[in-house]
Amino acid sequence: MSDSVFDYIIVGAGAAGLMLADTMGKDAYFNNKSILILDKDPKTVNDRTWCFWEKGSGQFDEIVSKKWNHILFSGPDFSERFSISPYTYKMVRGIDFYSYHINRLQEYENITFRQETVTHIEENNTEAKVTTLDNNYAGKQVFTGMFDYGLMRDQKKYPVLQQHFIGWTIKTKDPIFDIDQATYMDFSVPQKGNTRFMYVLPFKNNTALVEYTLFSEETLPKSEYENALKNYLSEHLHCYDYEILETEEGNIPMTCYNFDSHNTTRVLNIGTAGGWAKPSTGYSFLSTSKKVPQLIAHLKSGKPLSDFGSKNRFWYYDLLFLDVLHTNNALGYTIFQSLFKKRPPQLIFKFLDENTTLWEDIYYIMGCPKKPFIKAFLNRMF
Ligand SMILES: Cc1cc2nc3c(=O)[nH]c(=O)nc-3n(C[C@H](O)[C@H](O)[C@H](O)COP(=O)(O)OP(=O)(O)OC[C@H]3O[C@@H](n4cnc5c(N)ncnc54)[C@H](O)[C@@H]3O)c2cc1C
Repeated sequence: MSDSVFDYIIVGAGAAGLMLADTMGKDAYFNNKSILILDKDPKTVNDRTWCFWEKGSGQFDEIVSKKWNHILFSGPDFSERFSISPYTYKMVRGIDFYSYHINRLQEYENITFRQETVTHIEENNTEAKVTTLDNNYAGKQVFTGMFDYGLMRDQKKYPVLQQHFIGWTIKTKDPIFDIDQATYMDFSVPQKGNTRFMYVLPFKNNTALVEYTLFSEETLPKSEYENALKNYLSEHLHCYDYEILETEEGNIPMTCYNFDSHNTTRVLNIGTAGGWAKPSTGYSFLSTSKKVPQLIAHLKSGKPLSDFGSKNRFWYYDLLFLDVLHTNNALGYTIFQSLFKKRPPQLIFKFLDENTTLWEDIYYIMGCPKKPFIKAFLNRMF
């Protein structure tokens, strides 16, 4: 069987793949380039809820289904509802994102979307071969969002934590939620030696996504997440009468591992597979939308894909944070509580967006407990 040949092949019609395909489709530079996008799934299921903070309007506003002007940080010793102006916390439902983008792709004559499972990607001097269960394709350049935790398990240089969670969208009998407040982190749940918190996104006063989240090395049996959700609803929200409308679960790598080392001249790992999820938070939706234009500029420059990507000082801050949590996983609550007590959420967002000045970085870092970070810093130095 001869290969079908494309200029570009994108493996994975997820957040990164669809943002990349759409940006290429809109850009006249790619009008005479053929682009294939492959996904094993039809992308018709609402499998995730993306949130991000943003100032003013933004590129996803058309599909943003809820915005909050306040966030709650809570724990046993400290709890505060913050106004986050000029930011808003915005939410995009997975299904809305997929449908919107897949519809748009149909308008671009040079882009083909196929539902096929990729089994292998191999590169030679002139092209990269993409094998699926049904076909063989060749691309001059390939972008892949296929993520494999196994890649980083055999190394010891960088700790690998996981941000793992199960969330329930529930409808309650009584109106119990504040619809202008997202619970960013509620640490008033037993920590059991880890960093464990609840995340609550109210859509209506009786409907919300409630998510039990951990930053830790190992995942839990499903029943433990579910029991924690049940306990939280009854003990903290005094809610006994509810219906589960939807569920979601996730497992995002939190690591400074060098994902770029797997990129080659013609094959680039994108999204989570490319290390685009921020190591200290797991957030990657909005940052991916900023990374994609950089990638487009890189493609136009004609440089090899292996040259894409660079590290900045925030990578090092994330490394120290993960070193601290890896050494003592129970410290998460203390670190976040200290930050939210001492620093405004606007500065926290700016820092996590990697937009702070060096002076702001220092001010932010001074808001964290000092001992564990100094220890982590010295361990990395010597
Ligand atoms: C439930 C959940 C909630 C999240 N919430 C947030 C949030 O609020 N804010 C935020 O910033 N980040 C969030 N994240 C993290 C991150 O933004 C998402 O994981 C995001 O989807 C990552 O984009 P991606 O393109 O790397 O991966 P994905 O969106 O997962 O896309 C990868 C695609 O590759 C396809 N694929 C995989 N293997 C194959 C194969 N062999 N052949 C063909 N196709 C294949 C998959 O079907 C999938 O469509 C969340 C993650 C999850 C799981």
